Amino acid sequence: MRQVQGADVAIVRHADEPQPVCDAVVTSVAGLALCVRVGDCVPVVLADADAGVTAVAHAGRRGMVTGVVPKTVAAMRASGAVDIEAWLGPHVCGGCYEVPAPLRDEAATAVPAAYACTTWGTPSLDIGAGVTAQLQADGCSVNDRSACTVESADFFSYRRDGAASGRCAGIVVRRSGGS
Ligand SMILES: [Zn+2]
Repeated sequence: MRQVQGADVAIVRHADEPQPVCDAVVTSVAGLALCVRVGDCVPVVLADADAGVTAVAHAGRRGMVTGVVPKTVAAMRASGAVDIEAWLGPHVCGGCYEVPAPLRDEAATAVPAAYACTTWGTPSLDIGAGVTAQLQADGCSVNDRSACTVESADFFSYRRDGAASGRCAGIVVRRSGGS
């Protein structure tokens, strides 16, 4: 997908479809790999293996506030998903993601769990905590595989390395025959 920090969700059925402009994709097709790319935002991978529905979502501050993850879950349920498991990958942590106070207030009004402070005591946002709260409110089980991209040299970080940074990818593919 071509990610635009929005909340649109696309349903995909073929690998040769034009690249959708959106921040989440959902499929019921086995063998079709879905990929989300992030610089410091939260990569979310979702699956209901029994129902055969998989998805990925890209959740930054704007995506969290506009509900890209709840919209992804709703699209999965509309495709037949029931028991949804989600995995959160590496992203900037609440201790590092400094934002101006008005931005924190705006985001935390929409998603209170995202309210945070940096390790040096200034306003920040914990997007991972916000997305986790959204997933749990929608009845998903959450596997938190996060690490802080800014603090860990194992991961690419746009905030740490600037425009020349690489990207982390989250990928999900359902094998034919389930799981
Ligand atoms: Zn951090």
